Amino acid sequence: MKKLLLVLSLLIVAGISSLATLIFCFVESENKKTHPIEKFKNEFSEFKDLTPRDRIKPLSNSKVIEYFNRDSINNIVPLEELTKQETSTLNKLYQAIELWPLIYKDYLWDKVARIYIVDGLFSSGMARYIEKGNAHFILINRKLLSLKPNDWATQTEESCFYYNNLSDRLFVEIEQKTDSYLTLENVLIHELGHVIAIDEEITPDYIPRKLGGNYPFFKDAFYSDINKMHRKPNNKIINLTYYARQKDKVTFDDYYNLSKELKNTDYPTIYGISNQDEYFAEYFYLFFHCNIQGKNFRAYYHKNGLKELLIDNPLTKERCFDRIMLLINELHKLNYTQQSL
Ligand SMILES: [Zn+2]
Repeated sequence: MKKLLLVLSLLIVAGISSLATLIFCFVESENKKTHPIEKFKNEFSEFKDLTPRDRIKPLSNSKVIEYFNRDSINNIVPLEELTKQETSTLNKLYQAIELWPLIYKDYLWDKVARIYIVDGLFSSGMARYIEKGNAHFILINRKLLSLKPNDWATQTEESCFYYNNLSDRLFVEIEQKTDSYLTLENVLIHELGHVIAIDEEITPDYIPRKLGGNYPFFKDAFYSDINKMHRKPNNKIINLTYYARQKDKVTFDDYYNLSKELKNTDYPTIYGISNQDEYFAEYFYLFFHCNIQGKNFRAYYHKNGLKELLIDNPLTKERCFDRIMLLINELHKLNYTQQSL
């Protein structure tokens, strides 16, 4: 009996391993046929022929899966044709970019192959920057096409904290107007920060060969090795995970106290604590939004029935001054590169 069992189990193991080999060969040949990077290269080589307006377009979910390997895509639902309203929002976004200072407008259209509107993108800001095959892509959640800018900035559904008291509220004011194209514009500026950071090698990217480089922007703020965690305000270890699922969230009280502590640091926003990439992207966003566009960035807390202005144009903080000088330095290089081309 024991022998019979042994023979049977050997047969089962052999069966499983040959099935695995078959599956592996099948996947391998599929990969050879439709390697996503090859498709990216095509997309990227063709994009320069497209007008910038044509490069802001919706992307079907089958393409999202194919190109981006479901990277960061969650709960995929069928993407129907955009409504008239959504198309008009995209046109207004295009017009808004037209008003950007030339250097940033040129940089965007020079480096970013496509800005795709997608369904079901999971991220706290509802947008995602992806670099594949030397091409830059920005993915924006379709929801943002109908979300007012302050509502987007204030939304907490996908942020890192939860309210523990019904009377507690956070209100973030980034725009006077309520048009939803401004939501997209705000998101796009932040994502452009990522493109600049990676392309100009201001921050380390996640490609191992670039680790251990010299990144002056982060002097005394973050280690250049992305595997080492950054320091937290007042050296406290607060496990803030943006992209947080419910179980990882901190309480609103912790979030509120941390926001207060930020006042004496060079962290521009709480989101900027996440990692080096977000630290730079938040600096760039605030610099563009407040200093270039002359708008405000304020956060009000409604706590125990009292309204408190806690964050007011964060880059005006004394501790941010040196870092802005470094930022301007990096952006000057950008200018120089463009002029010297
Ligand atoms: Zn970001």
